[in-house]
Amino acid sequence: MQYQTTLRDAIAFEGPGLHTGQLGSVRVLPAPAGHGLRFRLDGAVEFPARAEYVVDTVRATVVGKGGHAVSTVEHLLSALLGCGVDNALIDVEGPEIPVEDGSAKVFADRIGTAGLATLHEARVRWIPTETRVFHDGDKVLIVAPAPAFRVRMIVDYRPPVGVQYVDAAITPDAYRTEIAPNRTFGFQDEIDDLIRRGLAKGGTLDNAVVFGPNGPLAPLRSPDEPARHKVLDLVGDFALLGAYPQCEVVAIKSGHKLHCTAVRELSPHGGEPSAVSATS
Ligand SMILES: [Zn+2]
Repeated sequence: MQYQTTLRDAIAFEGPGLHTGQLGSVRVLPAPAGHGLRFRLDGAVEFPARAEYVVDTVRATVVGKGGHAVSTVEHLLSALLGCGVDNALIDVEGPEIPVEDGSAKVFADRIGTAGLATLHEARVRWIPTETRVFHDGDKVLIVAPAPAFRVRMIVDYRPPVGVQYVDAAITPDAYRTEIAPNRTFGFQDEIDDLIRRGLAKGGTLDNAVVFGPNGPLAPLRSPDEPARHKVLDLVGDFALLGAYPQCEVVAIKSGHKLHCTAVRELSPHGGEPSAVSATS
């Protein structure tokens, strides 16, 4: 049996967001067993990190309640779930989580430095009882029963990215080294267009991989960094199940919208999960 965990100490981040460019500050605080991952926004509203609080998925996953919202939660949630943190209060001031280096590395490193405390209650797992398939146009997401959390990601972008395949067992050690360091990415012409439209205000060559016609404009951290970043994003969106996923996910060209649709449908209904969950 695995036990629930929380952080040994609070960790904090401050900086501009990728999309708004505005300053955000986040403190991630230890929390007791059964608390789960929860957000507190602007000192005003508090709610669980669950799919029913997703309010937008266009360029990032945005959660909110009662007129308060925070954008780009997926990289921090990914680091928390990937590193095996079951309980924490994510206390945010500002409209967006800081982008840091565009990956989950800074978050995962800080979680590693703080360390995890083991709590005296069994981990709450989300365990599917049957295989489910979700479609959105040419995107496909398959969620199947499995002995542990595993993600197989297939992306198919135009050159120079092309088709990439990553098979990742999501254990804390593998997550920290194989998934967390991979940065968000985009194509040079699309980014020029986003900037013209006043978007991607916090994007720089320091926090995103930019692909020109002939390849990345700066060295990659891994040859298949885009597909690995998509695994990172998926792990963050699956944190919104509200319990530790024990399933295999096969994702073909999927993104935040399809992830969040699936997670919303798969989430146990009727409030907080209170025991080992079996649902489909
Ligand atoms: Zn991302």
